[in-house]
Amino acid sequence: LAKSEAKGDRPTAEALGIRVTNRDRIIFDADKLTKGQLADYYAAVADLMMVDSANRPISLVRCPQGRGKKCFFQKHDSGSFGPDVKHVPVKEKNGATEDYLYIADPKGLLTLVQMGTIEVHGWGSRVKPLEKPDRLVFDLDPDVGLDFADVRAAAVRLKALLGDLGLVSFPMVTGGKGIHVIVPLDASVAWPKVSDFAERFARAIAEAEPQTFTANIRKVARQGRIFLDWLRNQRGATAVMPYSARARDGAPVAAPIAWEELDDIKSGNIFSILDADKLIERASSKLLAGWGEAKQKLPNA
Ligand code: ATP
Ligand code: MN
Ligand code: MN
Repeated sequence: LAKSEAKGDRPTAEALGIRVTNRDRIIFDADKLTKGQLADYYAAVADLMMVDSANRPISLVRCPQGRGKKCFFQKHDSGSFGPDVKHVPVKEKNGATEDYLYIADPKGLLTLVQMGTIEVHGWGSRVKPLEKPDRLVFDLDPDVGLDFADVRAAAVRLKALLGDLGLVSFPMVTGGKGIHVIVPLDASVAWPKVSDFAERFARAIAEAEPQTFTANIRKVARQGRIFLDWLRNQRGATAVMPYSARARDGAPVAAPIAWEELDDIKSGNIFSILDADKLIERASSKLLAGWGEAKQKLPNA
């Protein structure tokens, strides 16, 4: 009873000030899941999600008519999201300035969902300081034909190699095929040094352990290996945010996991938008205590 009461207490989009239209519209066709169900999921996990996603430039995967129809990746907006989705001017390489999107609170998140957003991807830095990332992400992309067990083993190896450099890392299932290994930083160093570190580290690992890893983005170079995607750590690149839903079959979500439980995790898409209660319970469990928290400096040279 206590549990169902707790469920009843979960915030709704409406309680957060957002009226969700077309609640019954099927967004995940194969699974018959609706926009209302997606909004309920995001409203439930919004507080949790904002820990990582607040005040970070974001890109969206929007599928206003459902994921079976046209979806698009969106970085900019001229203001159609209204006041709860904010803008930060970003100077591009070519010298031009473009406004990027960010959200500061659950209301902003639910605004995105009302506007047909399924996925939320974020930069490695927050809007302040925009030029100094507060996380590294190593995106482990297995070659076709590899098992999730291979991804797990690669993630554990990566954890150990990061540990050798004194860096603590945290795993996340992406809701897709892989795992992201996240290294929180203290946001003391600017982009060029951080992305350079990520690239050199990935290339060194691929060179030392070529039977497991490749740092080459080309799919033909994978050949039974895991692509250690260091490109997520460049200024302007994004990675899917913890608790973001994915526009894929089964309505999976990206979710924090613990190194201790990794052996028991059978795939990258074990959690879905129907698992809000489970995810909230996990987030406050001992297992995930301190997940993603560490103010670390990159090692010298
Ligand atoms: P999976 O575990 O299935 O690989 P993933 O989220 O890691 O899921 P990737 O294809 O490896 O998917 O992409 C890694 C990240 O790169 C994404 O989370 C996203 O933020 C970014 N990305 C992917 N495709 C695009 C794109 N077309 N444009 C911009 N960024 C993209
Ligand atoms: Mn990936
Ligand atoms: Mn990738």
